[in-house]
Amino acid sequence: MSAKVLVVGGAGYIGSVTSAVLVGEGFDVVTFDDLSTGHAAAAAGTLVVGDIRDRALLTTVLREGNFDAVMHFAAKSLVGESVAHPLRYYDVNVGGTASLICAMQEAKVQCLVFSSTCAIYGNPHYLPLDEHHPQHPVSPYGDSKKMVEKMLEACRAKEDLRVTTLRYFNAAGCMPDGSLGESHKTETHLIPLAIAAALGRRPPLSLFGTDYDTRDGTCIRDYIHVLDLADAHVKALNRLLAGDPGDSYNVGTGVGTTVREVLAAIGRALGQDVPHEVAERRAGDPPALFAAAEKIKRELEWSPQWTDINSIVETAARWTQNPRF
Ligand code: UDP
Repeated sequence: MSAKVLVVGGAGYIGSVTSAVLVGEGFDVVTFDDLSTGHAAAAAGTLVVGDIRDRALLTTVLREGNFDAVMHFAAKSLVGESVAHPLRYYDVNVGGTASLICAMQEAKVQCLVFSSTCAIYGNPHYLPLDEHHPQHPVSPYGDSKKMVEKMLEACRAKEDLRVTTLRYFNAAGCMPDGSLGESHKTETHLIPLAIAAALGRRPPLSLFGTDYDTRDGTCIRDYIHVLDLADAHVKALNRLLAGDPGDSYNVGTGVGTTVREVLAAIGRALGQDVPHEVAERRAGDPPALFAAAEKIKRELEWSPQWTDINSIVETAARWTQNPRF
């Protein structure tokens, strides 16, 4: 019998791609989303529209649906907004997750895969970043995710929760067949902004800082394809369903790519340069971030399939040229 999974935040970018992969692997998927940033057309299975802070609704959905597990993608995730409006971030990300775990407990659902972030580490003391790196997040967004991780660890120890947290590096790319991708009302991420600039749908990209101590002066990040992220979720879920208590893992390629290298790859994918203007450094951007992902490779037998930035941005370009929503 296939396992039944409630995908919370499943109408968003990473949640919808993971849901599609789950369905492809034979899981029974129901989506729960408030559609504040997600899209109904992206959701797999039945869509329940609701807020994660609505514990009564979550409890009813979980009880009546007889679920085996929850995947939790629902969060506010704009770093700048979190600095301006921190309470929203603690309310939705921390309070909402507490509400979800209470509902899971009431409905006797024990397995949870949680979307975390490399932003919990803050400015790197060393690279690549492994899971033991000290956690000093520099934004309320990163801090809210760190708080949730602590809460989940405590619940793993004392509340019969089996939980794995996946610390994403820079999620990128779209479904290679163009069926699902990234469409945000407020877009802050490099790849979609740069593609839209190249297509003439947005002003020239502001390149934030060219005087970093890196190989070409621009920031280095670890771009991980959304399908590789989805695969990490499925592997983490299968382990929990088999009875494992769960753990925390970095999910990145281990390869660092500069902003200029990303722009060059987009230029090749589209056959036209990305118009850009050099701008001041963006507050809070560390010069370089990339993952040590040995732990997830070793323990969950995961490894990234999309390690070439050219093929990652090609999938993103395909979506952005012709988005479904
Ligand atoms: N970046 C940029 N211009 C933009 C958006 C991002 O130069 O309009 C740079 C940013 O400074 C960082 C990298 O691109 O070095 C990736 O930023 P993004 O916001 O995509 O992800 P983050 O690393 O902040 O999670």
